Amino acid sequence: MDLYEYQARALFAEHNIPVLAGKLATSAAEAERAAQEIQRDTGADLLVVKAQVKTGGRGKAGGVKLARTPEETREAAEHILGLDIKGHVVRKVMVAQGADIAEEYYFSILLDRTKRSFLAMLSKEGGMEIEQLAVEKPEALIKRNFTPLDGLTDTLAREMTEAAGFAPEDQAKLVPVLKQLYAAFVAEDATLVEVNPLVKTDTGEILALDGKVTLDDNAEFRHPNHAELHDASATDPLETKAQRMGLNYVKLDGNVGVIGNGAGLVMSTLDVVAYAGEDLPGQPRPANFLDIGGGANAEVMANGLEVILSDPQVKSVFVNVFGGITACDEVASGIIQAFKILAADGVEPKPLVVRLDGNNAELGRQLLNDAQLPHLQQVATMDDAARRAAELASDAAPASTAS
Ligand code: GDP
Ligand code: MN
Repeated sequence: MDLYEYQARALFAEHNIPVLAGKLATSAAEAERAAQEIQRDTGADLLVVKAQVKTGGRGKAGGVKLARTPEETREAAEHILGLDIKGHVVRKVMVAQGADIAEEYYFSILLDRTKRSFLAMLSKEGGMEIEQLAVEKPEALIKRNFTPLDGLTDTLAREMTEAAGFAPEDQAKLVPVLKQLYAAFVAEDATLVEVNPLVKTDTGEILALDGKVTLDDNAEFRHPNHAELHDASATDPLETKAQRMGLNYVKLDGNVGVIGNGAGLVMSTLDVVAYAGEDLPGQPRPANFLDIGGGANAEVMANGLEVILSDPQVKSVFVNVFGGITACDEVASGIIQAFKILAADGVEPKPLVVRLDGNNAELGRQLLNDAQLPHLQQVATMDDAARRAAELASDAAPASTAS
Protein backbone atom coordinates (compact mmCIF):
# COMPACT_ATOMS: atom_id res chain seq x y z
CA MET A 1 0.00 0.00 0.00
CA ASP A 2 1.29 3.43 -0.98
CA LEU A 3 0.65 6.27 1.43
CA TYR A 4 -0.30 9.83 0.69
CA GLU A 5 2.31 12.42 1.55
CA TYR A 6 0.29 13.66 4.53
CA GLN A 7 0.14 10.10 5.89
CA ALA A 8 3.86 9.62 5.32
CA ARG A 9 4.61 12.88 7.11
CA ALA A 10 2.42 11.86 10.06
CA LEU A 11 4.31 8.58 10.20
CA PHE A 12 7.63 10.44 10.07
CA ALA A 13 6.53 12.66 12.95
CA GLU A 14 5.73 9.57 15.03
CA HIS A 15 9.28 8.38 14.45
CA ASN A 16 10.87 11.68 15.40
CA ILE A 17 11.81 12.64 11.89
CA PRO A 18 11.64 16.43 11.53
CA VAL A 19 8.64 17.58 9.46
CA LEU A 20 6.61 20.78 9.44
CA ALA A 21 3.04 20.92 10.70
CA GLY A 22 0.37 20.30 8.09
CA LYS A 23 -3.41 19.99 7.88
CA LEU A 24 -5.61 18.28 5.35
CA ALA A 25 -8.34 20.17 3.46
CA THR A 26 -10.90 19.10 0.90
CA SER A 27 -12.18 22.57 0.02
CA ALA A 28 -10.67 26.00 -0.49
CA ALA A 29 -12.53 27.36 2.54
CA GLU A 30 -11.16 24.56 4.68
CA ALA A 31 -7.67 25.27 3.35
CA GLU A 32 -8.05 28.93 4.34
CA ARG A 33 -9.06 27.93 7.88
CA ALA A 34 -6.15 25.49 8.06
CA ALA A 35 -3.80 28.32 7.10
CA GLN A 36 -5.22 30.56 9.84
CA GLU A 37 -4.76 27.82 12.41
CA ILE A 38 -1.22 27.00 11.33
CA GLN A 39 -0.21 30.65 11.36
CA ARG A 40 -1.83 31.11 14.75
CA ASP A 41 -0.13 28.00 16.21
CA THR A 42 3.31 28.38 14.66
CA GLY A 43 3.61 32.01 13.67
CA ALA A 44 4.77 30.80 10.26
CA ASP A 45 4.79 33.44 7.56
CA LEU A 46 5.34 30.99 4.72
CA LEU A 47 2.77 28.33 3.89
CA VAL A 48 2.61 25.68 1.21
CA VAL A 49 -0.42 24.04 -0.38
CA LYS A 50 0.21 20.59 -1.79
CA ALA A 51 -1.97 18.28 -3.87
CA GLN A 52 -2.45 14.93 -2.14
CA VAL A 53 -2.31 12.35 -4.91
CA LYS A 54 -0.40 9.11 -5.03
CA THR A 55 1.96 10.16 -7.78
CA GLY A 56 5.13 12.21 -8.02
CA GLY A 57 5.86 15.32 -10.06
CA ARG A 58 3.15 17.36 -8.35
CA GLY A 59 5.41 20.40 -8.29
CA LYS A 60 5.89 20.43 -12.07
CA ALA A 61 2.17 19.85 -12.62
CA GLY A 62 1.22 22.92 -10.59
CA GLY A 63 0.15 20.89 -7.58
CA VAL A 64 2.50 22.61 -5.08
CA LYS A 65 2.07 26.32 -4.36
CA LEU A 66 3.51 28.68 -1.80
CA ALA A 67 1.28 31.16 0.05
CA ARG A 68 1.84 33.88 2.64
CA THR A 69 -1.69 34.51 3.87
CA PRO A 70 -4.89 32.52 4.43
CA GLU A 71 -6.35 34.29 1.38
CA GLU A 72 -3.44 33.23 -0.83
CA THR A 73 -3.82 29.74 0.59
CA ARG A 74 -7.46 29.68 -0.43
CA GLU A 75 -6.60 30.81 -3.94
CA ALA A 76 -3.86 28.19 -4.22
CA ALA A 77 -6.24 25.48 -2.99
CA GLU A 78 -8.92 26.62 -5.47
CA HIS A 79 -6.37 26.20 -8.22
CA ILE A 80 -5.05 22.81 -7.07
CA LEU A 81 -8.30 21.05 -6.08
CA GLY A 82 -9.68 19.32 -9.15
CA LEU A 83 -6.37 19.33 -11.03
CA ASP A 84 -5.62 16.17 -12.94
CA ILE A 85 -2.07 15.06 -12.17
CA LYS A 86 -1.04 12.11 -14.31
CA GLY A 87 -4.58 10.76 -14.22
CA HIS A 88 -5.08 11.41 -10.49
CA VAL A 89 -7.73 14.00 -9.76
CA VAL A 90 -6.88 16.09 -6.69
CA ARG A 91 -9.58 15.71 -4.02
CA LYS A 92 -7.56 16.90 -1.04
CA VAL A 93 -4.70 19.23 -0.35
CA MET A 94 -2.31 19.52 2.54
CA VAL A 95 -1.75 22.99 3.91
CA ALA A 96 1.57 23.08 5.71
CA GLN A 97 4.04 25.43 7.20
CA GLY A 98 6.47 26.33 4.40
CA ALA A 99 10.19 25.91 4.66
CA ASP A 100 12.84 28.43 3.65
CA ILE A 101 14.95 26.08 1.62
CA ALA A 102 18.70 26.49 1.40
CA GLU A 103 19.44 23.12 -0.21
CA GLU A 104 17.41 20.15 -1.47
CA TYR A 105 18.72 16.61 -1.00
CA TYR A 106 17.48 13.13 -1.89
CA PHE A 107 17.30 10.10 0.38
CA SER A 108 15.54 6.76 0.09
CA ILE A 109 15.59 3.27 1.53
CA LEU A 110 13.98 0.39 -0.27
CA LEU A 111 13.73 -3.34 -0.39
CA ASP A 112 16.03 -4.38 -3.23
CA ARG A 113 14.56 -7.70 -4.29
CA THR A 114 17.13 -8.53 -6.95
CA LYS A 115 20.02 -8.01 -4.51
CA ARG A 116 18.05 -9.61 -1.66
CA SER A 117 18.94 -6.76 0.63
CA PHE A 118 18.00 -3.21 1.50
CA LEU A 119 19.23 -0.33 -0.62
CA ALA A 120 19.83 3.21 0.60
CA MET A 121 20.37 6.08 -1.82
CA LEU A 122 21.55 9.56 -1.00
CA SER A 123 22.28 12.62 -3.08
CA LYS A 124 23.05 16.26 -2.55
CA GLU A 125 21.02 16.94 -5.64
CA GLY A 126 17.42 16.50 -4.54
CA GLY A 127 14.23 17.96 -5.92
CA MET A 128 14.39 16.43 -9.37
CA GLU A 129 13.02 12.97 -9.99
CA ILE A 130 15.33 10.14 -9.05
CA GLU A 131 15.06 8.39 -12.41
CA GLN A 132 16.30 11.57 -14.07
CA LEU A 133 19.09 12.02 -11.54
CA ALA A 134 20.19 8.40 -11.97
CA VAL A 135 20.48 8.93 -15.72
CA GLU A 136 21.86 12.47 -15.86
CA LYS A 137 24.20 12.46 -12.87
CA PRO A 138 24.71 8.88 -11.71
CA GLU A 139 27.94 9.87 -9.90
CA ALA A 140 25.94 12.22 -7.67
CA LEU A 141 23.73 9.37 -6.44
CA ILE A 142 25.33 7.34 -3.66
CA LYS A 143 23.90 3.82 -3.44
CA ARG A 144 24.65 1.29 -0.72
CA ASN A 145 23.19 -2.16 -0.21
CA PHE A 146 23.04 -3.49 3.33
CA THR A 147 21.36 -6.41 5.05
CA PRO A 148 18.57 -6.16 7.63
CA LEU A 149 20.95 -7.85 10.07
CA ASP A 150 23.44 -5.01 9.79
CA GLY A 151 20.89 -2.25 9.38
CA LEU A 152 21.74 1.32 8.47
CA THR A 153 24.51 1.81 10.99
CA ASP A 154 26.08 5.02 12.12
CA THR A 155 29.20 4.06 10.18
CA LEU A 156 27.29 3.41 6.97
CA ALA A 157 25.19 6.58 7.26
CA ARG A 158 28.31 8.61 7.86
CA GLU A 159 30.17 6.97 4.99
CA MET A 160 27.26 7.73 2.64
CA THR A 161 27.05 11.39 3.60
CA GLU A 162 30.79 11.68 3.09
CA ALA A 163 30.68 9.94 -0.30
CA ALA A 164 27.83 12.25 -1.32
CA GLY A 165 30.08 15.22 -0.62
CA PHE A 166 28.43 16.78 2.43
CA ALA A 167 30.46 19.09 4.63
CA PRO A 168 31.26 17.65 8.09
CA GLU A 169 28.73 19.86 9.88
CA ASP A 170 25.96 18.77 7.47
CA GLN A 171 27.02 15.15 7.90
CA ALA A 172 26.55 15.45 11.63
CA LYS A 173 23.03 16.80 11.16
CA LEU A 174 22.04 14.32 8.47
CA VAL A 175 23.23 11.06 10.02
CA PRO A 176 20.65 10.97 12.86
CA VAL A 177 17.82 11.81 10.42
CA LEU A 178 18.86 9.05 8.01
CA LYS A 179 18.98 6.61 10.90
CA GLN A 180 15.54 7.66 12.10
CA LEU A 181 14.19 7.15 8.60
CA TYR A 182 15.65 3.66 8.63
CA ALA A 183 14.14 3.01 12.06
CA ALA A 184 10.74 4.05 10.67
CA PHE A 185 11.26 1.84 7.60
CA VAL A 186 11.86 -1.18 9.83
CA ALA A 187 9.29 -0.43 12.51
CA GLU A 188 6.49 0.08 9.98
CA ASP A 189 7.47 -2.84 7.72
CA ALA A 190 7.88 -0.52 4.75
CA THR A 191 9.31 -1.57 1.40
CA LEU A 192 10.04 2.03 0.44
CA VAL A 193 10.72 5.26 2.27
CA GLU A 194 11.69 8.13 -0.01
CA VAL A 195 12.27 11.74 0.95
CA ASN A 196 12.64 14.06 -2.02
CA PRO A 197 13.47 16.68 -1.10
CA LEU A 198 15.09 16.27 2.26
CA VAL A 199 16.06 19.90 2.83
CA LYS A 200 18.40 22.08 4.76
CA THR A 201 16.68 25.31 5.73
CA ASP A 202 18.17 28.78 5.84
CA THR A 203 18.66 28.27 9.57
CA GLY A 204 20.52 24.98 9.00
CA GLU A 205 17.76 22.59 10.04
CA ILE A 206 17.20 19.27 8.25
CA LEU A 207 13.53 18.61 7.30
CA ALA A 208 11.66 15.92 5.41
CA LEU A 209 9.66 18.10 3.03
CA ASP A 210 8.10 15.32 0.99
CA GLY A 211 7.48 11.69 1.83
CA LYS A 212 6.75 8.63 -0.22
CA VAL A 213 6.13 5.47 1.78
CA THR A 214 5.07 2.01 0.64
CA LEU A 215 4.01 -0.38 3.37
CA ASP A 216 4.28 -4.14 2.99
CA ASP A 217 0.69 -5.42 2.87
CA ASN A 218 1.88 -8.87 3.92
CA ALA A 219 2.91 -7.39 7.26
CA GLU A 220 -0.42 -5.69 7.87
CA PHE A 221 -1.40 -8.22 10.55
CA ARG A 222 1.41 -6.84 12.67
CA HIS A 223 0.13 -3.28 12.32
CA PRO A 224 -3.55 -2.95 13.24
CA ASN A 225 -3.17 0.82 12.89
CA HIS A 226 -2.27 0.52 9.20
CA ALA A 227 -5.81 -0.49 8.28
CA GLU A 228 -7.00 3.09 8.71
CA LEU A 229 -4.49 4.23 6.10
CA HIS A 230 -6.44 2.41 3.40
CA ASP A 231 -8.23 4.73 1.11
CA ALA A 232 -11.14 3.17 -0.68
CA SER A 233 -11.49 6.04 -3.14
CA ALA A 234 -7.95 5.60 -4.45
CA THR A 235 -8.15 1.87 -5.08
CA ASP A 236 -10.21 0.41 -7.86
CA PRO A 237 -13.83 -0.12 -6.70
CA LEU A 238 -13.84 -3.63 -8.17
CA GLU A 239 -10.64 -4.49 -6.32
CA THR A 240 -12.17 -3.15 -3.12
CA LYS A 241 -15.25 -5.27 -3.67
CA ALA A 242 -13.14 -8.37 -4.42
CA GLN A 243 -11.00 -7.69 -1.37
CA ARG A 244 -14.10 -7.60 0.82
CA MET A 245 -15.12 -10.97 -0.62
CA GLY A 246 -11.67 -12.36 0.12
CA LEU A 247 -10.86 -12.90 -3.57
CA ASN A 248 -7.44 -12.79 -5.14
CA TYR A 249 -8.36 -10.25 -7.83
CA VAL A 250 -6.36 -7.69 -9.77
CA LYS A 251 -8.06 -5.38 -12.25
CA LEU A 252 -6.40 -5.11 -15.66
CA ASP A 253 -7.46 -2.95 -18.58
CA GLY A 254 -8.74 -5.47 -21.14
CA ASN A 255 -12.19 -6.91 -21.79
CA VAL A 256 -11.90 -10.70 -21.37
CA GLY A 257 -12.72 -11.64 -17.80
CA VAL A 258 -10.55 -14.48 -16.49
CA ILE A 259 -11.19 -16.93 -13.66
CA GLY A 260 -9.01 -19.88 -12.85
CA ASN A 261 -7.94 -22.06 -9.98
CA GLY A 262 -4.31 -21.63 -9.00
CA ALA A 263 -2.17 -18.53 -9.50
CA GLY A 264 0.10 -20.26 -12.03
CA LEU A 265 -2.78 -21.39 -14.20
CA VAL A 266 -4.37 -17.93 -14.11
CA MET A 267 -1.09 -16.25 -15.03
CA SER A 268 -0.64 -18.48 -18.06
CA THR A 269 -4.31 -17.98 -18.93
CA LEU A 270 -3.67 -14.23 -19.11
CA ASP A 271 -0.82 -14.88 -21.54
CA VAL A 272 -2.85 -17.23 -23.71
CA VAL A 273 -5.80 -14.81 -23.87
CA ALA A 274 -3.52 -11.87 -24.73
CA TYR A 275 -1.85 -13.97 -27.42
CA ALA A 276 -5.17 -15.11 -28.88
CA GLY A 277 -6.40 -11.54 -28.96
CA GLU A 278 -3.39 -10.08 -30.77
CA ASP A 279 -4.69 -10.75 -34.29
CA LEU A 280 -8.34 -10.04 -33.59
CA PRO A 281 -10.11 -6.75 -34.33
CA GLY A 282 -9.98 -4.49 -31.27
CA GLN A 283 -7.22 -6.69 -29.82
CA PRO A 284 -9.12 -8.09 -26.85
CA ARG A 285 -6.99 -8.48 -23.74
CA PRO A 286 -7.50 -9.93 -20.26
CA ALA A 287 -9.67 -7.77 -18.01
CA ASN A 288 -8.39 -9.11 -14.73
CA PHE A 289 -6.47 -11.68 -12.74
CA LEU A 290 -8.68 -13.83 -10.52
CA ASP A 291 -7.51 -16.94 -8.75
CA ILE A 292 -10.32 -18.72 -6.95
CA GLY A 293 -7.88 -21.17 -5.41
CA GLY A 294 -8.11 -24.91 -5.00
CA GLY A 295 -11.41 -25.16 -3.19
CA ALA A 296 -13.53 -23.55 -5.87
CA ASN A 297 -16.92 -23.87 -4.26
CA ALA A 298 -20.15 -22.34 -5.54
CA GLU A 299 -20.01 -19.26 -3.38
CA VAL A 300 -16.45 -18.38 -4.38
CA MET A 301 -17.33 -18.99 -8.03
CA ALA A 302 -20.45 -16.81 -7.71
CA ASN A 303 -18.50 -14.04 -5.99
CA GLY A 304 -15.79 -14.22 -8.65
CA LEU A 305 -18.29 -14.12 -11.50
CA GLU A 306 -20.16 -11.27 -9.85
CA VAL A 307 -17.03 -9.13 -9.56
CA ILE A 308 -16.02 -9.86 -13.16
CA LEU A 309 -19.48 -9.34 -14.61
CA SER A 310 -19.86 -6.01 -12.85
CA ASP A 311 -16.81 -4.71 -14.73
CA PRO A 312 -18.42 -2.69 -17.53
CA GLN A 313 -15.38 -3.29 -19.75
CA VAL A 314 -15.84 -7.06 -19.69
CA LYS A 315 -17.42 -8.50 -22.83
CA SER A 316 -16.74 -12.20 -22.30
CA VAL A 317 -15.51 -14.44 -19.50
CA PHE A 318 -13.12 -17.36 -19.63
CA VAL A 319 -13.38 -19.85 -16.79
CA ASN A 320 -10.28 -22.02 -16.92
CA VAL A 321 -10.19 -24.85 -14.40
CA PHE A 322 -7.81 -27.70 -13.97
CA GLY A 323 -9.32 -30.16 -11.55
CA GLY A 324 -6.93 -31.40 -8.91
CA ILE A 325 -7.84 -31.75 -5.28
CA THR A 326 -11.09 -30.04 -6.18
CA ALA A 327 -12.58 -32.21 -8.92
CA CYS A 328 -14.17 -30.71 -12.05
CA ASP A 329 -17.65 -31.96 -11.17
CA GLU A 330 -17.51 -29.92 -7.95
CA VAL A 331 -16.41 -26.88 -9.93
CA ALA A 332 -19.21 -27.49 -12.45
CA SER A 333 -21.73 -27.67 -9.61
CA GLY A 334 -20.20 -24.44 -8.35
CA ILE A 335 -20.73 -22.75 -11.71
CA ILE A 336 -24.34 -23.98 -11.92
CA GLN A 337 -24.99 -22.80 -8.40
CA ALA A 338 -23.28 -19.48 -9.18
CA PHE A 339 -25.62 -18.92 -12.14
CA LYS A 340 -28.60 -19.35 -9.80
CA ILE A 341 -27.17 -16.91 -7.26
CA LEU A 342 -26.36 -14.35 -9.94
CA ALA A 343 -29.76 -14.67 -11.61
CA ALA A 344 -31.41 -14.14 -8.23
CA ASP A 345 -29.23 -11.06 -7.69
CA GLY A 346 -30.18 -9.72 -11.11
CA VAL A 347 -26.58 -9.67 -12.38
CA GLU A 348 -26.50 -9.20 -16.16
CA PRO A 349 -25.03 -12.32 -17.84
CA LYS A 350 -22.26 -12.18 -20.46
CA PRO A 351 -20.89 -14.88 -22.80
CA LEU A 352 -18.96 -17.43 -20.78
CA VAL A 353 -16.42 -19.91 -22.09
CA VAL A 354 -15.59 -22.81 -19.79
CA ARG A 355 -12.70 -25.19 -20.07
CA LEU A 356 -12.63 -28.06 -17.62
CA ASP A 357 -9.75 -30.48 -17.54
CA GLY A 358 -8.11 -32.82 -15.04
CA ASN A 359 -9.78 -34.68 -12.23
CA ASN A 360 -13.36 -35.75 -13.18
CA ALA A 361 -13.39 -33.48 -16.25
CA GLU A 362 -15.85 -35.73 -18.13
CA LEU A 363 -18.32 -35.66 -15.30
CA GLY A 364 -17.99 -31.90 -14.89
CA ARG A 365 -18.61 -31.27 -18.61
CA GLN A 366 -21.62 -33.57 -18.51
CA LEU A 367 -23.08 -31.64 -15.57
CA LEU A 368 -22.67 -28.34 -17.37
CA ASN A 369 -24.20 -29.73 -20.58
CA ASP A 370 -27.19 -31.07 -18.70
CA ALA A 371 -27.70 -27.75 -16.92
CA GLN A 372 -28.03 -25.95 -20.30
CA LEU A 373 -26.93 -22.65 -18.86
CA PRO A 374 -27.61 -19.65 -21.08
CA HIS A 375 -24.55 -17.84 -22.53
CA LEU A 376 -22.27 -20.71 -21.54
CA GLN A 377 -20.21 -22.74 -23.96
CA GLN A 378 -17.60 -25.36 -23.27
CA VAL A 379 -14.34 -25.70 -25.16
CA ALA A 380 -12.05 -28.64 -24.53
CA THR A 381 -8.56 -27.12 -24.65
CA MET A 382 -7.09 -24.07 -23.03
CA ASP A 383 -5.81 -22.54 -26.29
CA ASP A 384 -9.10 -23.01 -28.12
CA ALA A 385 -11.10 -21.74 -25.18
CA ALA A 386 -8.90 -18.63 -24.90
CA ARG A 387 -9.36 -17.94 -28.61
CA ARG A 388 -13.12 -18.39 -28.31
CA ALA A 389 -13.31 -16.02 -25.34
CA ALA A 390 -11.13 -13.48 -27.13
CA GLU A 391 -13.32 -13.70 -30.26
CA LEU A 392 -16.40 -13.05 -28.17
CA ALA A 393 -14.78 -9.90 -26.80
CA SER A 394 -13.39 -8.71 -30.12
CA ASP A 395 -14.88 -5.95 -32.22
CA ALA A 396 -15.92 -8.60 -34.76
CA ALA A 397 -18.16 -10.38 -32.27
CA PRO A 398 -21.81 -10.02 -33.25
CA ALA A 399 -23.77 -8.00 -30.70
CA SER A 400 -26.04 -11.01 -30.19
CA THR A 401 -23.29 -13.27 -28.84
CA ALA A 402 -24.89 -12.93 -25.46
CA SER A 403 -27.23 -15.79 -26.21
P1 GDP B 1 6.64 16.51 -5.88
O1 GDP B 1 6.88 17.44 -7.03
O2 GDP B 1 5.37 15.72 -6.07
O3 GDP B 1 7.79 15.62 -5.59
O4 GDP B 1 6.37 17.43 -4.59
P2 GDP B 1 7.38 17.99 -3.51
O5 GDP B 1 6.77 17.91 -2.19
O6 GDP B 1 8.71 17.34 -3.63
O7 GDP B 1 7.51 19.53 -3.90
C1 GDP B 1 8.06 19.93 -5.13
C2 GDP B 1 8.95 21.13 -4.95
O8 GDP B 1 8.22 22.20 -4.37
C3 GDP B 1 10.09 20.89 -3.98
O9 GDP B 1 11.18 20.27 -4.62
C4 GDP B 1 10.39 22.29 -3.52
O10 GDP B 1 11.25 22.93 -4.43
C5 GDP B 1 9.05 22.99 -3.57
N1 GDP B 1 8.51 23.04 -2.19
C6 GDP B 1 7.77 22.13 -1.55
N2 GDP B 1 7.53 22.50 -0.28
C7 GDP B 1 8.15 23.70 -0.12
C8 GDP B 1 8.30 24.59 0.99
O11 GDP B 1 7.82 24.38 2.10
N3 GDP B 1 9.01 25.74 0.77
C9 GDP B 1 9.56 26.01 -0.45
N4 GDP B 1 10.26 27.14 -0.58
N5 GDP B 1 9.47 25.19 -1.49
C10 GDP B 1 8.77 24.06 -1.33
MN1 MN C 1 9.05 15.28 -4.11
